[in-house]
Amino acid sequence: MSKVQETVLEIDLRALKHNFEFIKSKLNNNTKLLAVVKAFAYGSDAEEVSLYLQNLDLDYFAVAYVYEGVALRKAGITLPILVLHPQPDNFNLAIEYHLEPSMYSLRILDHFILMAEKKKQINYPVHIKFNTGLNRLGFSKTDMTGIIKKLKTTPTIKVKSIFSHLAASEDVNEAAFTKNQIDAFKLISKKFIKQLDYKPMVHQCNTSGIVNYPEAHFDMVRSGIGLYGFGNDPKINKFLKPVASLKTVISQIHTLKKGESLGYNRAFIASKPTRTATLPIGHADGISRQFGNGNGYVIINTKKAPIIGNVCMDMIMVEVTHINCNEGDEVIIFDKEYTAENLSEAIRSIPYELLTAVSQRVKRFFYR
Ligand SMILES: *Cc1c(COP(=O)(O)O)cnc(C)c1O
Repeated sequence: MSKVQETVLEIDLRALKHNFEFIKSKLNNNTKLLAVVKAFAYGSDAEEVSLYLQNLDLDYFAVAYVYEGVALRKAGITLPILVLHPQPDNFNLAIEYHLEPSMYSLRILDHFILMAEKKKQINYPVHIKFNTGLNRLGFSKTDMTGIIKKLKTTPTIKVKSIFSHLAASEDVNEAAFTKNQIDAFKLISKKFIKQLDYKPMVHQCNTSGIVNYPEAHFDMVRSGIGLYGFGNDPKINKFLKPVASLKTVISQIHTLKKGESLGYNRAFIASKPTRTATLPIGHADGISRQFGNGNGYVIINTKKAPIIGNVCMDMIMVEVTHINCNEGDEVIIFDKEYTAENLSEAIRSIPYELLTAVSQRVKRFFYR
């Protein structure tokens, strides 16, 4: 890969394919795979990533919001798209673009049926989400009678799947809790299906669920972070390749005398002569202010350069006193070796947050 001359996010579609194949290898032949491409495909590029995945042996996509699904349709995605967290205001658009909404409460279900009636739909595909312990979104099992009653009074919608979401599938210390969620979901789905005269798909696992709970693969699994190269576990990370690399360059080098300050609020004061490099990437690009003042670092010529002073909107400054480097040199924020997971740990975050923080201002480049 050539040296970069500005801040770029490199997206390695070969790594994506590798991760896709790893996840596939965990599934048996009759388990479908859904790719979660919400939040710009975890900060990469939802359209390019989805178009690429669509040509592999994939069954489904999921996004969080209706507008994310609309963008995929406009880009040429024809596979079914599950919308995990739709809002009634956008139900109209959802139907127009044939997006399949998750129904997570009676309020949402009522709204959607009304819209489906208005738009003269028959058997419009929806997905029923049950809460089994995450307590975030979803019907409770006591809602079941109410849901079935509504379903039986309208021909407008049809349940394509019943699903639930695990709260701690990556955490071995929470295995008992997770097994409870799986058991609860098995009971709920069995009861639910018994009352319908057809059989919707059943799904519950995210990436860590896929790896840790093969008994809960059911008809389909939903993978996000794994496709992008992280497995929430060093033993799994070994088999995955991070897809996104964030790189930038050195814009300028300064040498501070002892006692001189650096950046806004004079947050850094040189206690000795200090060489600093200014980089064209700031909090508006996804580098949280929490990385400032020595908490975060970048990689320059294989050495760690700490981020010093406050993170600015468009820039950060790093210390390079002991690093042999020049203006114009390439800087790695994260890549396959210096991973987003490692860097995120510096501020007690997770790769999910660091990856999705990379803003739309950063240019994307694709390796095929
Ligand atoms: C985001 C999300 C996923 C993907 O989870 P990963 O841990 O990234 O694999 C799956 N299911 C639901 C409901 C989600 O919101």
